[in-house]
Amino acid sequence: MKLVSVVVPCYNEEEVLPLFYAEIIKVTDEMKKNHSELEFEFLFIDDGSKDKTLLEFHKLAEKDSRVRYISFSRNFGKESGIYAGLENSKGDYVVVMDADLQHPPSFLPKMYEYVKNGEYDCATTRRVSRKGESKIRSWFARKFYKIMNKISDTEIVDGAQDFRFMTRQMVDAVLSMSEYNRFSKGIFSWVGFKVKYIEYENVERAAGTTAWSFWGLFKYSLEGIMAFSTAPLVISSLLGLVSCIIAFIMIVAIIIKKLAFGDPVQGFPTIMCAIFFIGGLQLFCTGILGQYLSKTYLETKNRPKYIMRENEKIYRERLEKQKNKD
Ligand code: UDP
Ligand code: MG
Repeated sequence: MKLVSVVVPCYNEEEVLPLFYAEIIKVTDEMKKNHSELEFEFLFIDDGSKDKTLLEFHKLAEKDSRVRYISFSRNFGKESGIYAGLENSKGDYVVVMDADLQHPPSFLPKMYEYVKNGEYDCATTRRVSRKGESKIRSWFARKFYKIMNKISDTEIVDGAQDFRFMTRQMVDAVLSMSEYNRFSKGIFSWVGFKVKYIEYENVERAAGTTAWSFWGLFKYSLEGIMAFSTAPLVISSLLGLVSCIIAFIMIVAIIIKKLAFGDPVQGFPTIMCAIFFIGGLQLFCTGILGQYLSKTYLETKNRPKYIMRENEKIYRERLEKQKNKD
């Protein structure tokens, strides 16, 4: 028997969860018919949702013994959700997918075909269009991938997503990267392995709203750059070097001018410009350094990536106790 764990990070997904569950059950039942060796477990992560997502989990856990869940004590972010899911999954294969049906469960049979013979270690989707997304957002996204791939040794594939069908071996490799600042797209790529990209058109959310604001995405992309590249540090050193060279040339020019023409003191505006420019440059470069330092600071604290408040085991025991009392 082969167990497939389906990991689903959820944040405020009460609306879409029943739809998702119906869909995933349909697909996995079909898969079991064609592949009698398959068993499934569904591991939902409640990332500190503020709506009734947890109640939905309770309902699912009551009617389906294959449903497991972990509920966080607060919102830790999708990356922590994925980590918790991978860490607690028991399957020989692990699927990571969104709850909003933007990652269509109907892809699972195809993905399984790629990994089941060991030809690939991971099957994932790559969206070729960004339909349904604003133009500015798409433009920034494309630029991000371009810059990222220029300055980082880790290839980040444009349009690659967190919809993955992985072998246990790859999951263990991902888990062995225990960093606190997790940028999944980079981590999945960094571990390597044979990855099959299946191209598909972007699908819009089935219900609910996206948790990502434009600003949130922007910060996330900076995070990605810092997690997988030290290029900003190199750039800031280069800027320092260039301004030193310019300053040196200027000094020589001024001395020669003074000796040749003996000009009286002049150029107050020039000095002010230089002071502001150099001051700004210094703050900018110190800022970059500070960003890396702050990441290092967080890493050395070794804080847990998530804190569990409740899981399906606790819930089922509670139900059991209540039944015995009644
Ligand atoms: N998500 C999460 N924690 C968060 C934000 C999002 O677990 O803090 C989940 C969310 O429930 C969904 C997935 O991550 O299953 C993708 O989120 P969303 O659909 O909002 O992002 P988008 O598809 O717009 O990139
Ligand atoms: Mg989505």
